[in-house]
Amino acid sequence: MNFHEFGFDDDLLDGIYAMGYEKATPVQEQVIPPIIAGRDIIASAQTGTGKTAAFLLPVLHNLLTQPRDEKSINAMVIVPTRELAIQIAQTLEGLTYYTSISSIAVYGGTGGASFATEKKALATGVDIVICTPGRMIAHLNMGYVNVKQLKYLVLDEADRMLDMGFFDDIIKIISYLPKERQNLMFSATMPPKIKQLALRILQEPVGISIALNKAPEKIVQKAFLVHEQQKAPLIKYVLSQQQFESVIIFCSSKMNVKQLYAELKQAKFSTELIHSDLEQEKREQALLDFKNKKLKILVATDILSRGIDIEDIDLVINYDVPKDAEDYIHRIGRTARAASEGSAYTFVSGKEMGRFARIERTLGKQVPRGEVPEQFGPAPSFNARPEGRPGRNNGKPRRNGGGKPGGGHGRPGGNGKPDGNSNGQGNRNGAPQGHRKPKKKPSNNFNNNKSS
Ligand code: AMP
Repeated sequence: MNFHEFGFDDDLLDGIYAMGYEKATPVQEQVIPPIIAGRDIIASAQTGTGKTAAFLLPVLHNLLTQPRDEKSINAMVIVPTRELAIQIAQTLEGLTYYTSISSIAVYGGTGGASFATEKKALATGVDIVICTPGRMIAHLNMGYVNVKQLKYLVLDEADRMLDMGFFDDIIKIISYLPKERQNLMFSATMPPKIKQLALRILQEPVGISIALNKAPEKIVQKAFLVHEQQKAPLIKYVLSQQQFESVIIFCSSKMNVKQLYAELKQAKFSTELIHSDLEQEKREQALLDFKNKKLKILVATDILSRGIDIEDIDLVINYDVPKDAEDYIHRIGRTARAASEGSAYTFVSGKEMGRFARIERTLGKQVPRGEVPEQFGPAPSFNARPEGRPGRNNGKPRRNGGGKPGGGHGRPGGNGKPDGNSNGQGNRNGAPQGHRKPKKKPSNNFNNNKSS
């Protein structure tokens, strides 16, 4: 479906085409018409499907074609992480480049000057605010935020926000908003708490579900069963076997991120780390360098598993097994985006086998096993039985493993151009666009390569 078939405002269409979008993605086809028609929405859609534009475009169209109060905030998008706020704000800058729409990203960790800029925008009016919950509440509590004419509320990655403990914050923010408004909720999963939130917020919503139980076919997946202490040496080995340009390594804890980062750094790999304790400026710089391919390896917690769009990642490594299939799919979905291919390796220790078996059950297939090179000593063998089926060990693993952009009121520097130079906050966050390097296909099984 072409974008002009939605009847979009002409200036908006210019922004869409300048961003290089030609045809609407399936989620956009399903979500845009009911939003334009004024309906509340509850949608489950995987990131990478174009869901950001799916909610931004109809909201922008409605703002552009209906009367709006320039002294008030007209739309609010609440997201779980600063990185996602920045990314959405960059997309928004591109899409609104030819329009009169103003926007600002409001998120923590940026210091007093940014707070003052945000305060001014929030008090004097800005069309769209993209915010993380804590920072928005800090402003709302001070009483100057003008939301009197707010018409649109978007909750993006709602399940992630609840996982992060933001339920009360979201309810608190909503208590400040006018009751008459259109609500759009996006969530990868629909656990009972999401349903509860939906019941409280949404009115006769249209439900749209783009199933999330499948990883993109293009991802070459491998699982390696290893002892915990073999993980870091093996990762170093994998990384030295081939010239990877872009690798994300996910760890479930900050402690693992820090330890692995220190090991890789010591071994002179081009690496940085991202976790929630790190100063915001360092987080942004690491992500920017990674997006711009100045940095080859990023070691991160799940902060980066949702919503973040980075092109051309060759390899995703799960240093440890993610907590469930959703997180697994989100993590490995960082690679093989759009037309590219990629690999995803998961390192499974003996005690993680049960969890990995559950993930495989949800995926509906077994992830192919990779072999650990002999030089690393004996690795445990896979012996987890699917839960619920009788087995020698009752399905349990055996011990030892038997195995911020400028916008209208924005921060300095953002130019928001949809011409490949858009860089959000004065070059701090921008990803290069346009050309793609020819991709090398990573090998599927690092055991096939001779050790150096
Ligand atoms: P998202 O799922 O919102 O993270 O979007 C994933 C990527 O797809 C982003 O880089 C978007 O800019 C891009 N994108 C969104 N909609 C389209 C479209 N209709 N055609 C091409 N690319 C798109």
